[in-house]
Amino acid sequence: MPNQSGKANPHPTHKCSFCGKTNNDVATIITGDGACICDECVYVCVEIIFKQNRRTHSEHDVNGESHAN
Ligand SMILES: [Zn+2]
Repeated sequence: MPNQSGKANPHPTHKCSFCGKTNNDVATIITGDGACICDECVYVCVEIIFKQNRRTHSEHDVNGESHAN
C-alpha cells in the first residue's frame, strides 16, 4: 500500500483548472486531458447542470409528478 496516511503531499502535483486550488487544498482532484477539476468545482458544476436540467425539464413536462391526494 502506498504512502496514504492522510498526510498532505508537500509538492502538489495537480492544480484545478477552474479555481486554481492544488491537490493539497482540496480532497480530490480529477484529471482530464490537459485539465483538472477539484471536487469543489465538481459540486458547482453539478448544481448548474441540475438547475438547467430542471428548467428545461419543466418546460416540456408540465404534469410529470403525481398531483393526486
Ligand atoms: Zn476547483
